[in-house]
Amino acid sequence: MEVSENFKILLNNPQLLPELKAIAQKVLDKQRITFDEGVLLYEKAELGYLGILANYLREQKHGNKTYFNRNFHIEPTNLCVYDCKFCSYSRLLKQKSEGWEYTMEEMLDIVKKYDGHPVTEVHIVGGVLPQYDVAFYSELFTRIKEHRPDLHVKALTPVEYHYIFKKAKIDYATGMQLMKDAGLESIPGGGAEIFHPEVRELIAKDKCTGDQWLAIHEEWHKIDMRSNATMLYGHIEKYWHRVDHMERLRELQDRTGGFQTFIPLKFRNQDNQMSNVPESTVLEDLRNYAIARIYLDNFDHIKAYWAMISRTTAQLSLNFGVDDIDGTLDDTTKIYSMAGAEEQHPAMSTKQLVDLIKNAGRYPIERDTLYNVVTDYNDFQFEETEKPKYYKLPVIN
Ligand code: SF4
Repeated sequence: MEVSENFKILLNNPQLLPELKAIAQKVLDKQRITFDEGVLLYEKAELGYLGILANYLREQKHGNKTYFNRNFHIEPTNLCVYDCKFCSYSRLLKQKSEGWEYTMEEMLDIVKKYDGHPVTEVHIVGGVLPQYDVAFYSELFTRIKEHRPDLHVKALTPVEYHYIFKKAKIDYATGMQLMKDAGLESIPGGGAEIFHPEVRELIAKDKCTGDQWLAIHEEWHKIDMRSNATMLYGHIEKYWHRVDHMERLRELQDRTGGFQTFIPLKFRNQDNQMSNVPESTVLEDLRNYAIARIYLDNFDHIKAYWAMISRTTAQLSLNFGVDDIDGTLDDTTKIYSMAGAEEQHPAMSTKQLVDLIKNAGRYPIERDTLYNVVTDYNDFQFEETEKPKYYKLPVIN
């Protein structure tokens, strides 16, 4: 790919630190950057520099393509046996009056609401409760697939899997095979938070460890299945914790190749036990996307959740390494709004998502969960919405 004028100017800039120039050269030469170079990017690199590198990599992989999908969420419960300090979503058992617990039939009713709608994915994730066990989820996945075989079931994170497998006294390999046989098709990226125990112990003490999270994804990849990965950033972690987190993901990806997408999740401080911790700035959010794009050279996609970071920041992120902005959502998730996101009822029509991407100068592509192209919207014309009808008023002479 042709190197942009900006990249050439950057390489010839006498003011640029030699270490940063060396990293830029590595990016051009398709060489992997090291752990220390990752930390250096966080500590020293300016937004403009990061944008040029990340955009170069993004366009090498995807050109102008920007992906989204048509999906809806089911959040089985917002009650949870765990007590993560950053969580604005969970209502502990003692606050049960503020919680919900869907039954199997209620969840299937949500699926049935989308009969006849062109959604391609159901995303199921929520709190952890004892009644949602291996048998429950196996039956749920099977019944969803029986009802609608074309709907991709992306469900639960290692937080739930570790809990339900332990309760059932089965190992991860057996458990993930059971889930696959029941109809599970991929795993979303949640529950990763920050892997390093120094941080994880303080913010998410009792749930699965970073190593357990990675081990469950590894078992899933071994049976030829795909998953995503997240990182909750911008709270009490140091920059090197973020690089450590991405290093562990990069290392597992080298071995399995099973990850599709990396999704940085911005810490939001509303209504949780870390409300005293300030949130990261938009500038820091963009730097973080860009560094993730540079560091995770073996991940195909970097995703920004528009519902979490706002539509404008999502548009900006498309110049900082991001190539996917998630889905239509249809106001089916409370996870972002309860944490203080600007979008209190996140839902966008396909046309709105397409326009958002086009207005940022990119090509909108609707994908399915596994990134097969559903519709290329680059030259697509939406049918004109019916114009309001005006009636001639009688003229009275
Ligand atoms: S982040 Fe997840 S596991 Fe932790 S308390 Fe909230 S719902 Fe439970």
